[in-house]
Amino acid sequence: MQTGRLHRYNVAPTPLHEPAESTVGRARAEAGEVGLFEQEFARYVGRKYALACASCGSAMQLALKSVGVRAGDGILCSGFTLTPVPGAIERTGGLAILVEINERYTVDLADLERKARSSAARWLLLSHMRGHVADMEAVAAICQANDIGLIEDCAHTLGATWRGRHTGSFGRVGCFSTQTYKHINSGEGGLLVTDDEDIAARAILQSGSYMLYERHLCRPPLSAFETLRDRLPNYSCRMDHLRAAILRPQLQRLDAQITRWNERYQLLERRLRSIPRLHVPERACAEGYVGSSIQFNVEDATDREMTRFVAVNRALGVELKWFGRPESVGFTSRYPHWQFLPWIPKLPQTDAVLATLCDMRIPLTFALEDCEHIADVVVYAAQEVWEGCG
Ligand SMILES: *Cc1c(COP(=O)(O)O)cnc(C)c1O
Repeated sequence: MQTGRLHRYNVAPTPLHEPAESTVGRARAEAGEVGLFEQEFARYVGRKYALACASCGSAMQLALKSVGVRAGDGILCSGFTLTPVPGAIERTGGLAILVEINERYTVDLADLERKARSSAARWLLLSHMRGHVADMEAVAAICQANDIGLIEDCAHTLGATWRGRHTGSFGRVGCFSTQTYKHINSGEGGLLVTDDEDIAARAILQSGSYMLYERHLCRPPLSAFETLRDRLPNYSCRMDHLRAAILRPQLQRLDAQITRWNERYQLLERRLRSIPRLHVPERACAEGYVGSSIQFNVEDATDREMTRFVAVNRALGVELKWFGRPESVGFTSRYPHWQFLPWIPKLPQTDAVLATLCDMRIPLTFALEDCEHIADVVVYAAQEVWEGCG
């Protein structure tokens, strides 16, 4: 703050904590918080290159532009995701082709295969929605068989793994969010990661590098930029040093936070499973999840009952998001609400899952006793609606 050097390319000519003599002949500038954060992030996820962006939405847009999506290209995406995903597709001129989900809240492999075959889609933008990771070997096999490139939306899965491998390392590109409601928090922010030199160079240039891309610590060789540098537009969606500075320590302690999230998740999972009608799906054993939120379905519940169940919880201070709500509220919109899309298919299986799907965030400010108390409230609300007062 004191130096005023907040723009990512505004770095001192010599490193802050090194005497100038030690850098003679090396022309090495101060690394800068953003550059260091990108290096640390790429290492954490297990990829070569990382680019910090203004948001995950802008990272996804850059990813699509950098892999070469053009207006009119079909892009498969999950019918259960957050609006910035179809938004990023719309912004590139691509056509979202929505795919069904299953009762584990992940992409339905049969529908994915059907649509991969029958459409001209060349890309799959796969959201690990609410932290649920699909069978990544099966997804990769479908993509490979149909010559479809995978881009992962890991907004909810920073730190999560499939068979020990981090999400974001399966696709050509992985996109992450550092917005307040995700696993590390800079208010707004996002990143993309890739191993591909060409994609990394395009993304850096298009994020708005003002021809200062040499200053990236985590970048392809300069030769990768040479033929591209004057040919790509600047979409101006960089991250600044201030955000990177508050993200770096959060990344350092993320694994410890994941342990705390999962303790809370497992407590709530056990308690909610004991409530008749409430169904918390089994998670795949290959999934190394981060329990920063919990989802469950209420079997055979009508809309009226769901409305009342959510209201009773709310009156007692427990906020549940209900994805079956007819109108879009807060962060919960459903695909029929995305009327900016040129085409909205019918997804009956997704509709059936979302009709009774509830979602609860698990903030780390909750102690384990708080989670017990929350579970007591949900038990009470379920009794009120389905057993009591009849
Ligand atoms: C939050 C979120 C995003 C986008 O993140 P922003 O940083 O807010 O742009 C993308 N996908 C999913 C599933 C999300 O929940």
